[in-house]
Amino acid sequence: MSKPTDRCSFCGRSRKEVNLLITGVSGNICDSCAAQASEIVKDTLASNKKSPGKLGFSKDDLPTPIQIKTFLDQYVIGQDDAKRYLAVSVYNHYKRLLQNVSEDEVEIEKSNIIMVGRTGTGKTLLARTIAKLLHVPFTIVDATVLTEAGYVGEDIESILTRLLQAADYDVDAAERGIVFIDEIDKIARKSDNPSITRDVSGEGVQQGLLKLLEGSVVNVPPQGGRKHPDQKMIPVNTKNILFICGGAFDGIEKKIGQRLNTRAVGYSASLDKKDVDRDNMLQYITPADLKSFGLIPEIIGRLPILTYLNPLDKDALCRILVEPKNSIIKQYKKLFEMDNVQLKIDEDVYDYIVDKALEFKLGARGLRSIAETIMMDAMFEMPSTKEKQLHITSEYAKDKLGKANMDRLCRE
Ligand code: ADP
Repeated sequence: MSKPTDRCSFCGRSRKEVNLLITGVSGNICDSCAAQASEIVKDTLASNKKSPGKLGFSKDDLPTPIQIKTFLDQYVIGQDDAKRYLAVSVYNHYKRLLQNVSEDEVEIEKSNIIMVGRTGTGKTLLARTIAKLLHVPFTIVDATVLTEAGYVGEDIESILTRLLQAADYDVDAAERGIVFIDEIDKIARKSDNPSITRDVSGEGVQQGLLKLLEGSVVNVPPQGGRKHPDQKMIPVNTKNILFICGGAFDGIEKKIGQRLNTRAVGYSASLDKKDVDRDNMLQYITPADLKSFGLIPEIIGRLPILTYLNPLDKDALCRILVEPKNSIIKQYKKLFEMDNVQLKIDEDVYDYIVDKALEFKLGARGLRSIAETIMMDAMFEMPSTKEKQLHITSEYAKDKLGKANMDRLCRE
C-alpha cells in the first residue's frame, strides 16, 4: 500500500495509477484532477462575469460629470460645451447600465451624441481622452470607409467588429461599450432631396447605421472585412451601446446663416441679427441644419444630443502648445531631458509658431509640424555634442522655419 503522501489528495489514486502527481505543501494533485479544477475555475469566472450586476464597476466607482470634465481639462483646451455634454452623456450611460430595468418602471433611454466642429478642433482628442477613464470597451471608427453592403469598402457591421475586438471578444462587455464614429458628415446625402438613384456612400449607409443606433441584434463578422458565407457570425445587441458621432460638416455654417437670416425677419426671432457671432456660427446649430446638410431625420432623431466645438483662435492655439498635460512643448522638453539637455524656449517663439499656424491655416495639427521643423536640426545634432543647454530664440525659430518648405507643411 502506497503512503498517503504518494496519493492524489482529491481522487485518492496512487502515483502509479496516474500520469503525473504534483506535490504541494500538504497534499498532492494528479493530472486529471488538475485539469478538472482548471475547467471549474474557468467556468466559474465566466459565469460570474455574465451574471447581472457584475459590470465590473459600481455607482461608487464612477467619476461624476464634473470629475470627468476636470480630467478632460488636463488634455483638451477650451471646448467647455462639448466637454459638459460628453461628461453628462457618459455618466448617464453608466447609470443606465446600473439600472435594474425589471424592477424599475422608468427606463432610462440612451442618449447618443453628435459633436460638430471644424477639423482639428479636438473632437477625436476628446473621444480619445475620455476613453482613458472609461470602465467599458471603447473604439473609434471612421465613417468614410463605410459603404452599403455589397459595395467596395467596409460593411456597417465592421463598427461592431472593432468594438468586439476592443472588448477581447467578450460579447457582454461589448454590448455595454461606447463607439465614437468620426467623420459622420461624410455619409451625408449629397442633396437634401431624397434621390431615386442609389447613393452608395450616403443614404444607404445611413439606413444601415440607423439599425445600430436604434438598438437591434446585429450579426457581426468576428474578423471584420466582407461577410463571408461560411464565417461564423456573433450576434451583438446594440441596445446599450452608446454612440458618439463627430464631424466637421464643412459648409454647414452657410446653412445655419441662411436659417438665422430668414428667422431674424420673422416674428419668432430669438436672436437679433446684429448679435450673431459670424466667426462661430456652429454655436447656433440645430437638428434642422443637420437635415439640410444631408443627414436623414431618423438618424438625427437617434442622436438627440447635439453639441459643437469652437474654432481655435490665437489664444487657444498658444494654450494648446504649452498647457495640456502632454503638450507639444512638454514633449520636446522631455525628449531633450533624456539626453541631459535643458531646453529653454523664449515666449515669443510660441507666438511665432501660432502666427505661422494661423497664417497657413494649419490649425492645431500644424503646431506640431511647425515645432518639429524648428527643432529638427537640434534633435539631430545635440545627442552627439556635449552641450547641456539649448536656447530657442525667435531668431533661431525664424531661421529654421525660413529654410523649410512651408508648402510641404501645408500639404500635411
Ligand atoms: P478633429 O477630430 O476635431 O479633426 P483632433 O482632435 O484630431 O481634431 O485634433 C488634432 C490635434 O490637434 C490633436 O491631436 C491635438 O494635438 C490638437 N488639438 C486640437 N484641438 C485641441 C484642443 N482643444 N486642445 C488641445 N489640443 C488640441
